[in-house]
Amino acid sequence: MPLPRTLGELKSSEYHEARVRRSSVKDEMRRNLIARLEGNEAVFPGIVGFDDSVIPQIVNALLSRHNFILLGLRGQAKSRILRELVNLLDEAMPTIEGCEINDNPYQPLCKACRLMIEARGDQTPISFVPRANRYVEKLATPDVTIADLIGDLDPIKAARGGHLLADELPIHYGLLPRANLGRFASNERRDLASEVQVGLCNIRQEGDVRDGG
Ligand SMILES: [Zn+2]
Repeated sequence: MPLPRTLGELKSSEYHEARVRRSSVKDEMRRNLIARLEGNEAVFPGIVGFDDSVIPQIVNALLSRHNFILLGLRGQAKSRILRELVNLLDEAMPTIEGCEINDNPYQPLCKACRLMIEARGDQTPISFVPRANRYVEKLATPDVTIADLIGDLDPIKAARGGHLLADELPIHYGLLPRANLGRFASNERRDLASEVQVGLCNIRQEGDVRDGG
């Protein structure tokens, strides 16, 4: 069956509102992991030697929808495991076409999408994001800024669109919001400037965002 191309088609497809609206990344990975375990498939086919120690713990964490930290020495496949986790996401995820942060069509966060749904309703165009595009990885170095990772107001975008700087539309999204409904990995986080580490911790613990300005 061809994939739905508008919000109206999406609503009457297998990606109906009851399934997509509340589905979290953790639920999605858990569902796909269970399917793999039931089919006796390898969970991480590219990882060798961790079948009895690391992998069962990761499986338990994913089944319990837990957050987890991978600690280990260089070369112990931490980054490899992060990249393999992407294969537990759905093959394709519906989003509003052109959205920079892969918005859930039933619960869009960005103002551009909210305005689009208001204006076009069921005719709002939908596109599908392949799972490989839902993984964002950033190797941390001391010169990484808040604007790179989280985002900043873009005065040029504001001027071009005739928006006020205090508006939401001229935001330039950083890597983290672009990984919305996907996975974001920051490798070697201790190398980030402390301001940036605080910004990331703030999002995770308090759920609020500070930009550069
Ligand atoms: Zn959006």
